[in-house]
Amino acid sequence: MKFSDIIGHKENVDMLKSMVINGRLPHAMLFTGPEGTGKRLCACAVAASLNCLEPAEGEPCGKCASCTRLACGNQPLVSFVGSLKKEEEIKIETPSGGVLIKNLVPSSSDGEKRTVKLSIKQVQEVIRLASLKGYRDGKKVFIFDDTADASLPAMQSMLKVLEEPPPATYFILVTNREVSLLPTIRSRCQRVEFLPLNRSDMGRFIEERLPRARSAPEAVEAASGSPGRLTRYVNARKVLLSNVPPEDFFSEVSDWISCKDPDEPDLEEKMMMLLEIEAASFRKSPGEENCRRVIIIEDALRDLRKNANADLVVSDMFLKLGAVDLGQVN
Ligand SMILES: [Zn+2]
Repeated sequence: MKFSDIIGHKENVDMLKSMVINGRLPHAMLFTGPEGTGKRLCACAVAASLNCLEPAEGEPCGKCASCTRLACGNQPLVSFVGSLKKEEEIKIETPSGGVLIKNLVPSSSDGEKRTVKLSIKQVQEVIRLASLKGYRDGKKVFIFDDTADASLPAMQSMLKVLEEPPPATYFILVTNREVSLLPTIRSRCQRVEFLPLNRSDMGRFIEERLPRARSAPEAVEAASGSPGRLTRYVNARKVLLSNVPPEDFFSEVSDWISCKDPDEPDLEEKMMMLLEIEAASFRKSPGEENCRRVIIIEDALRDLRKNANADLVVSDMFLKLGAVDLGQVN
Protein backbone atom coordinates (compact mmCIF):
# COMPACT_ATOMS: atom_id res chain seq x y z
CA MET A 1 0.00 0.00 0.00
CA LYS A 2 1.53 3.27 -1.13
CA PHE A 3 0.41 6.86 -1.53
CA SER A 4 1.11 6.44 -5.24
CA ASP A 5 -1.82 3.94 -5.35
CA ILE A 6 -4.18 6.83 -4.73
CA ILE A 7 -5.58 8.47 -7.83
CA GLY A 8 -6.36 12.18 -7.43
CA HIS A 9 -6.30 14.06 -4.10
CA LYS A 10 -2.77 15.30 -4.80
CA GLU A 11 -2.97 18.17 -2.29
CA ASN A 12 -4.16 15.89 0.52
CA VAL A 13 -1.53 13.28 -0.27
CA ASP A 14 1.29 15.86 -0.38
CA MET A 15 0.11 17.41 2.88
CA LEU A 16 -0.17 14.06 4.68
CA LYS A 17 3.23 12.89 3.44
CA SER A 18 4.90 16.07 4.57
CA MET A 19 3.21 15.87 8.00
CA VAL A 20 4.48 12.30 8.40
CA ILE A 21 8.02 13.31 7.34
CA ASN A 22 8.09 16.25 9.74
CA GLY A 23 6.51 14.32 12.61
CA ARG A 24 3.60 16.76 12.61
CA LEU A 25 0.75 14.42 11.84
CA PRO A 26 -2.21 15.30 14.10
CA HIS A 27 -3.20 12.54 16.50
CA ALA A 28 -6.83 12.74 15.42
CA MET A 29 -7.93 13.28 11.84
CA LEU A 30 -11.26 13.20 10.07
CA PHE A 31 -11.21 12.06 6.44
CA THR A 32 -14.49 13.24 5.03
CA GLY A 33 -16.11 13.26 1.59
CA PRO A 34 -18.40 11.25 -0.69
CA GLU A 35 -18.25 7.44 -0.61
CA GLY A 36 -15.78 5.63 -2.82
CA THR A 37 -13.38 8.54 -3.33
CA GLY A 38 -10.32 6.98 -1.68
CA LYS A 39 -10.50 8.09 1.96
CA ARG A 40 -10.02 4.63 3.42
CA LEU A 41 -7.17 3.87 1.03
CA CYS A 42 -5.49 7.12 1.98
CA ALA A 43 -5.87 6.30 5.70
CA CYS A 44 -4.14 2.95 4.98
CA ALA A 45 -1.32 4.76 3.17
CA VAL A 46 -0.84 7.03 6.19
CA ALA A 47 -0.68 3.96 8.47
CA ALA A 48 1.81 2.31 6.09
CA SER A 49 3.93 5.44 5.90
CA LEU A 50 4.06 5.91 9.68
CA ASN A 51 5.35 2.37 10.21
CA CYS A 52 7.38 1.72 7.09
CA LEU A 53 10.97 0.75 7.87
CA GLU A 54 12.37 2.28 4.70
CA PRO A 55 10.14 5.13 3.57
CA ALA A 56 11.31 7.43 0.78
CA GLU A 57 10.11 11.02 1.24
CA GLY A 58 7.10 9.79 3.21
CA GLU A 59 6.22 7.15 0.60
CA PRO A 60 6.07 3.66 2.17
CA CYS A 61 8.34 1.14 0.47
CA GLY A 62 5.70 -1.59 0.09
CA LYS A 63 8.36 -4.25 0.74
CA CYS A 64 9.60 -4.06 4.33
CA ALA A 65 8.28 -6.27 7.14
CA SER A 66 5.77 -3.63 8.24
CA CYS A 67 4.44 -2.93 4.73
CA THR A 68 4.17 -6.66 3.98
CA ARG A 69 2.30 -7.30 7.21
CA LEU A 70 -0.13 -4.51 6.43
CA ALA A 71 -0.79 -5.98 2.99
CA CYS A 72 -1.74 -9.32 4.60
CA GLY A 73 -3.78 -7.78 7.41
CA ASN A 74 -1.20 -8.84 10.03
CA GLN A 75 0.22 -5.50 11.09
CA PRO A 76 -0.62 -5.45 14.84
CA LEU A 77 -0.01 -1.71 15.05
CA VAL A 78 -2.79 -0.91 12.59
CA SER A 79 -6.43 -1.60 13.48
CA PHE A 80 -9.59 -1.08 11.50
CA VAL A 81 -12.63 -0.36 13.56
CA GLY A 82 -16.06 -0.12 12.10
CA SER A 83 -18.87 -1.47 10.15
CA LEU A 84 -17.78 -3.85 7.45
CA LYS A 85 -21.31 -4.64 6.52
CA LYS A 86 -21.24 -8.28 5.50
CA GLU A 87 -17.75 -9.58 6.07
CA GLU A 88 -15.06 -9.10 8.65
CA GLU A 89 -12.33 -8.56 6.11
CA ILE A 90 -11.95 -6.86 2.76
CA LYS A 91 -8.97 -7.01 0.46
CA ILE A 92 -8.42 -3.79 -1.44
CA GLU A 93 -6.21 -4.47 -4.44
CA THR A 94 -3.81 -1.75 -5.51
CA PRO A 95 -0.82 -1.71 -7.90
CA SER A 96 1.63 -1.87 -4.98
CA GLY A 97 0.08 -4.96 -3.42
CA GLY A 98 -3.03 -3.65 -1.69
CA VAL A 99 -4.14 -4.02 1.86
CA LEU A 100 -6.20 -6.52 3.79
CA ILE A 101 -8.62 -4.82 6.14
CA LYS A 102 -9.74 -6.93 9.08
CA ASN A 103 -12.43 -5.53 11.29
CA LEU A 104 -11.43 -5.22 14.94
CA VAL A 105 -13.50 -7.67 16.94
CA PRO A 106 -13.59 -7.19 20.70
CA SER A 107 -11.76 -10.12 22.27
CA SER A 108 -14.45 -10.27 24.95
CA SER A 109 -17.47 -11.09 22.81
CA ASP A 110 -18.12 -13.44 19.95
CA GLY A 111 -21.67 -12.31 19.39
CA GLU A 112 -20.51 -8.95 18.09
CA LYS A 113 -18.60 -10.34 15.16
CA ARG A 114 -21.06 -9.15 12.57
CA THR A 115 -21.86 -5.86 14.16
CA VAL A 116 -22.95 -3.25 11.67
CA LYS A 117 -22.73 -0.22 13.90
CA LEU A 118 -19.54 0.71 15.64
CA SER A 119 -20.17 -0.56 19.16
CA ILE A 120 -19.03 0.54 22.57
CA LYS A 121 -17.22 -2.79 23.01
CA GLN A 122 -15.14 -2.07 19.92
CA VAL A 123 -14.24 1.33 21.30
CA GLN A 124 -13.31 -0.25 24.63
CA GLU A 125 -11.07 -2.66 22.74
CA VAL A 126 -9.45 0.32 21.01
CA ILE A 127 -8.81 1.95 24.40
CA ARG A 128 -7.28 -1.28 25.67
CA LEU A 129 -5.02 -1.71 22.63
CA ALA A 130 -4.04 1.97 22.63
CA SER A 131 -2.97 1.78 26.25
CA LEU A 132 -0.69 -1.25 25.67
CA LYS A 133 2.97 -0.35 25.53
CA GLY A 134 4.01 -0.01 21.89
CA TYR A 135 7.03 -1.92 20.71
CA ARG A 136 10.16 -0.22 19.49
CA ASP A 137 9.26 2.98 17.70
CA GLY A 138 6.11 1.66 16.07
CA LYS A 139 3.12 3.97 15.70
CA LYS A 140 -0.33 2.68 16.49
CA VAL A 141 -2.97 3.67 14.00
CA PHE A 142 -6.70 3.16 14.50
CA ILE A 143 -8.78 3.67 11.40
CA PHE A 144 -12.44 4.16 12.27
CA ASP A 145 -14.44 3.24 9.22
CA ASP A 146 -17.85 4.82 8.79
CA THR A 147 -18.05 6.07 12.36
CA ALA A 148 -21.27 7.92 11.65
CA ASP A 149 -23.05 4.63 12.37
CA ALA A 150 -21.76 4.57 15.94
CA SER A 151 -24.12 4.56 18.88
CA LEU A 152 -24.11 7.57 21.19
CA PRO A 153 -22.33 5.77 24.07
CA ALA A 154 -19.70 4.52 21.58
CA MET A 155 -19.13 8.04 20.30
CA GLN A 156 -18.88 9.37 23.82
CA SER A 157 -16.18 6.92 24.80
CA MET A 158 -14.42 7.58 21.50
CA LEU A 159 -14.39 11.25 22.43
CA LYS A 160 -12.51 10.43 25.63
CA VAL A 161 -9.70 8.69 23.70
CA LEU A 162 -9.50 11.52 21.20
CA GLU A 163 -9.18 14.03 24.02
CA GLU A 164 -6.17 12.30 25.51
CA PRO A 165 -4.48 10.20 22.85
CA PRO A 166 -1.70 7.97 24.18
CA PRO A 167 1.76 8.80 22.77
CA ALA A 168 2.62 7.55 19.26
CA THR A 169 -1.04 6.76 18.63
CA TYR A 170 -3.09 8.09 15.73
CA PHE A 171 -6.80 8.02 15.09
CA ILE A 172 -8.20 8.46 11.60
CA LEU A 173 -11.97 8.73 11.32
CA VAL A 174 -13.31 8.01 7.86
CA THR A 175 -16.83 9.09 7.01
CA ASN A 176 -19.13 10.20 4.23
CA ARG A 177 -21.70 11.49 6.71
CA GLU A 178 -19.75 13.97 8.73
CA VAL A 179 -22.86 15.65 10.12
CA SER A 180 -23.86 12.47 11.95
CA LEU A 181 -20.78 12.70 14.16
CA LEU A 182 -20.89 14.46 17.50
CA PRO A 183 -19.72 18.07 17.02
CA THR A 184 -17.34 17.53 19.93
CA ILE A 185 -15.71 14.64 18.02
CA ARG A 186 -15.43 16.72 14.86
CA SER A 187 -13.82 19.57 16.74
CA ARG A 188 -11.11 17.24 18.12
CA CYS A 189 -10.02 16.13 14.66
CA GLN A 190 -8.11 17.81 11.88
CA ARG A 191 -10.47 17.71 8.92
CA VAL A 192 -9.20 16.46 5.55
CA GLU A 193 -11.78 16.73 2.79
CA PHE A 194 -11.84 14.33 -0.16
CA LEU A 195 -13.73 15.83 -3.09
CA PRO A 196 -15.07 13.76 -6.00
CA LEU A 197 -12.37 13.06 -8.59
CA ASN A 198 -12.24 15.39 -11.58
CA ARG A 199 -12.74 14.09 -15.13
CA SER A 200 -9.07 13.63 -15.84
CA ASP A 201 -8.44 11.64 -12.63
CA MET A 202 -11.55 9.52 -13.29
CA GLY A 203 -10.18 8.92 -16.81
CA ARG A 204 -6.89 7.78 -15.31
CA PHE A 205 -8.70 5.49 -12.87
CA ILE A 206 -10.62 3.89 -15.73
CA GLU A 207 -7.55 3.43 -17.93
CA GLU A 208 -5.38 2.00 -15.15
CA ARG A 209 -7.78 0.10 -12.93
CA LEU A 210 -11.15 -0.45 -14.61
CA PRO A 211 -10.84 -0.58 -18.41
CA ARG A 212 -14.24 -2.30 -18.60
CA ALA A 213 -15.82 1.04 -17.63
CA ARG A 214 -14.77 2.43 -21.03
CA SER A 215 -17.84 0.83 -22.53
CA ALA A 216 -20.15 2.09 -19.79
CA PRO A 217 -20.26 5.90 -20.17
CA GLU A 218 -23.61 6.00 -18.36
CA ALA A 219 -22.07 4.30 -15.31
CA VAL A 220 -19.16 6.77 -15.38
CA GLU A 221 -21.65 9.64 -15.48
CA ALA A 222 -23.74 8.23 -12.63
CA ALA A 223 -20.66 7.61 -10.47
CA SER A 224 -20.05 11.40 -10.30
CA GLY A 225 -16.33 11.25 -9.57
CA SER A 226 -16.38 8.28 -7.19
CA PRO A 227 -14.14 5.37 -8.30
CA GLY A 228 -15.69 3.17 -5.61
CA ARG A 229 -19.19 3.77 -6.89
CA LEU A 230 -18.07 3.31 -10.51
CA THR A 231 -16.57 -0.08 -9.63
CA ARG A 232 -19.84 -1.20 -8.08
CA TYR A 233 -21.85 0.10 -11.03
CA VAL A 234 -19.62 -1.66 -13.52
CA ASN A 235 -19.88 -4.89 -11.54
CA ALA A 236 -23.65 -4.46 -11.57
CA ARG A 237 -23.55 -4.12 -15.37
CA LYS A 238 -21.00 -6.92 -15.77
CA VAL A 239 -23.24 -9.20 -17.77
CA LEU A 240 -24.02 -6.42 -20.24
CA LEU A 241 -20.42 -5.29 -20.57
CA SER A 242 -18.64 -8.60 -20.98
CA ASN A 243 -20.03 -9.63 -24.40
CA VAL A 244 -21.06 -12.98 -23.04
CA PRO A 245 -21.29 -15.64 -25.78
CA PRO A 246 -24.87 -16.95 -26.02
CA GLU A 247 -23.93 -20.41 -24.70
CA ASP A 248 -22.51 -18.88 -21.48
CA PHE A 249 -25.26 -16.33 -20.96
CA PHE A 250 -27.32 -18.25 -18.40
CA SER A 251 -24.32 -19.35 -16.33
CA GLU A 252 -23.06 -15.73 -16.27
CA VAL A 253 -26.47 -14.60 -15.08
CA SER A 254 -26.47 -17.30 -12.39
CA ASP A 255 -23.06 -16.09 -11.19
CA TRP A 256 -24.34 -12.53 -11.16
CA ILE A 257 -27.33 -13.54 -9.06
CA SER A 258 -25.37 -15.67 -6.62
CA CYS A 259 -23.10 -12.75 -5.54
CA LYS A 260 -20.23 -15.11 -4.68
CA ASP A 261 -17.64 -12.42 -4.06
CA PRO A 262 -17.85 -11.45 -0.35
CA ASP A 263 -17.34 -7.79 -1.23
CA GLU A 264 -20.26 -7.89 -3.64
CA PRO A 265 -23.58 -6.33 -2.73
CA ASP A 266 -26.61 -8.60 -2.59
CA LEU A 267 -28.97 -9.04 -5.52
CA GLU A 268 -31.45 -6.34 -4.58
CA GLU A 269 -28.65 -3.83 -3.99
CA LYS A 270 -27.17 -4.66 -7.39
CA MET A 271 -30.54 -4.17 -9.05
CA MET A 272 -30.88 -0.81 -7.30
CA MET A 273 -27.46 0.16 -8.68
CA LEU A 274 -28.53 -0.72 -12.20
CA LEU A 275 -31.60 1.41 -11.63
CA GLU A 276 -29.51 4.34 -10.33
CA ILE A 277 -27.30 4.25 -13.42
CA GLU A 278 -30.22 4.15 -15.81
CA ALA A 279 -32.19 6.78 -13.89
CA ALA A 280 -29.16 9.09 -14.06
CA SER A 281 -28.89 8.52 -17.84
CA PHE A 282 -32.59 9.22 -18.20
CA ARG A 283 -32.35 12.46 -16.21
CA LYS A 284 -29.48 13.56 -18.45
CA SER A 285 -31.13 12.65 -21.74
CA PRO A 286 -34.78 11.72 -21.28
CA GLY A 287 -35.07 9.75 -24.54
CA GLU A 288 -37.20 6.71 -25.25
CA GLU A 289 -34.34 4.20 -24.97
CA ASN A 290 -33.27 5.41 -21.54
CA CYS A 291 -36.87 5.40 -20.37
CA ARG A 292 -37.23 1.83 -21.65
CA ARG A 293 -34.17 0.69 -19.64
CA VAL A 294 -35.54 2.20 -16.43
CA ILE A 295 -38.87 0.45 -16.95
CA ILE A 296 -37.21 -2.91 -17.66
CA ILE A 297 -35.25 -2.76 -14.40
CA GLU A 298 -38.22 -1.50 -12.37
CA ASP A 299 -40.36 -4.35 -13.70
CA ALA A 300 -37.69 -6.90 -12.81
CA LEU A 301 -37.28 -5.47 -9.31
CA ARG A 302 -41.02 -5.60 -8.75
CA ASP A 303 -41.13 -9.23 -9.87
CA LEU A 304 -38.20 -10.16 -7.65
CA ARG A 305 -39.86 -8.57 -4.66
CA LYS A 306 -42.89 -10.73 -5.40
CA ASN A 307 -40.53 -13.72 -5.05
CA ALA A 308 -40.52 -14.62 -8.71
CA ASN A 309 -37.74 -16.98 -9.86
CA ALA A 310 -34.58 -14.84 -9.78
CA ASP A 311 -32.86 -16.72 -12.65
CA LEU A 312 -35.80 -16.14 -14.96
CA VAL A 313 -36.41 -12.54 -13.99
CA VAL A 314 -32.77 -11.49 -14.20
CA SER A 315 -32.00 -13.29 -17.47
CA ASP A 316 -35.11 -11.79 -18.98
CA MET A 317 -34.03 -8.35 -17.75
CA PHE A 318 -30.52 -8.66 -19.22
CA LEU A 319 -31.87 -9.95 -22.52
CA LYS A 320 -34.24 -6.98 -22.74
CA LEU A 321 -31.54 -4.48 -21.72
CA GLY A 322 -29.17 -6.02 -24.25
CA ALA A 323 -31.81 -5.68 -26.93
CA VAL A 324 -32.27 -1.99 -26.08
CA ASP A 325 -28.48 -1.49 -26.24
CA LEU A 326 -28.44 -3.06 -29.69
CA GLY A 327 -31.35 -0.88 -30.76
CA GLN A 328 -33.55 -3.90 -31.37
CA VAL A 329 -36.53 -2.54 -29.52
CA ASN A 330 -39.10 -0.51 -31.33
ZN1 LIG B 1 7.89 -0.33 4.04
